[in-house]
Amino acid sequence: MSAGTATAERAAATLVERAREVALCLDFDGTLSPVVDDPQAARPLQGVVAQLEPLVNRLAAVAIISGRPAPYLAEHVGVAGVRYLGLYGLQEMYEGRVEVDPRLEAARPAVAAAEAALRESAAVRDSGAWLEDKVYSVAVHTRRIPDRDLWTDGIDRAAREIADQKGLELIPGTMVWELRPAVRGDKGDGVRRVVAESGARTVVMVGDDLGDLPAFAAVSQLATEGHEGMRVAVRSEEAPAELLSSADLVLEGPAGVLEFLRKLAA
Ligand SMILES: [Mg+2]
Repeated sequence: MSAGTATAERAAATLVERAREVALCLDFDGTLSPVVDDPQAARPLQGVVAQLEPLVNRLAAVAIISGRPAPYLAEHVGVAGVRYLGLYGLQEMYEGRVEVDPRLEAARPAVAAAEAALRESAAVRDSGAWLEDKVYSVAVHTRRIPDRDLWTDGIDRAAREIADQKGLELIPGTMVWELRPAVRGDKGDGVRRVVAESGARTVVMVGDDLGDLPAFAAVSQLATEGHEGMRVAVRSEEAPAELLSSADLVLEGPAGVLEFLRKLAA
C-alpha cells in the first residue's frame, strides 16, 4: 500500500475491502476542521461528523489525535465510539471518560502554584495580562492589553522565574508564555496505542502539519513490523513540504478529507 503515491479512489477502495482491520487516525485542525483565526472557533467541516458515525462501526478503530485537550475534541466532534486523544496523546477521552498521563496529573499542584504566583506578580497584575488555566499548564497572554510592548520584558522575566521555582518548563510564543510540566507526548505514541489496543492490522494517519510527522513515522515503523500503513497528508498553503513528500496519498484540504471519508463510509 505504501508503494508510490496512491489516488484517493484506489486507496479508499483498498481500505474498504479490509475495513474490519483498519485503524483510522485523524488530526483535527487543518484536517477535519478548516484553520480559523480564533482557535476556539475551530469546528469540523460540515458533513464530517455524519461520515465518522458509520465508520466507527465499520472499522477496527477511529481516533482523533491532536494537541488540543481531549474534551474539546469530544465536545466538537461528538461521535460516540471515536477515541479522542488530546495533548499529543497524553490525554484520552473515550465514551465520556477522561484518562490522563499520570505524570501530568502529578504536576497539577505545581501548575496551580505557578498560576497563583503569576497572578500575584507585579508584571501580570499591573499589566492586566490574561491568565489562561489550561488545567495541565498555565498561559499568560498579552494580546489584549494596551501598551503590551511596555510589559513584555517584565512578564517574560516573571514567567521564567516562576517556571524555574515550580519546576516547570517555559514555552514562549507570540504574546503568550506557557508554563507546563516537562512531559512530552507525540502523536506517534497515540497511533501505536490505538493500533495495539484495537488489534488493527492496517493503520491510516491523516494530518496536515509538522506535529503529524511523528505519527507518520509510527506508521512507517508499524509497516516494518508486519502492519499495512498509509500516510495521508492534507495539502494547504501552509502544509510543510516534508509532510507532503513523505505521504502515500495527498488530499486537498479538509474538503478533500471529507470526500475521502465519504468513499470509506459508502
Ligand atoms: Mg493539524
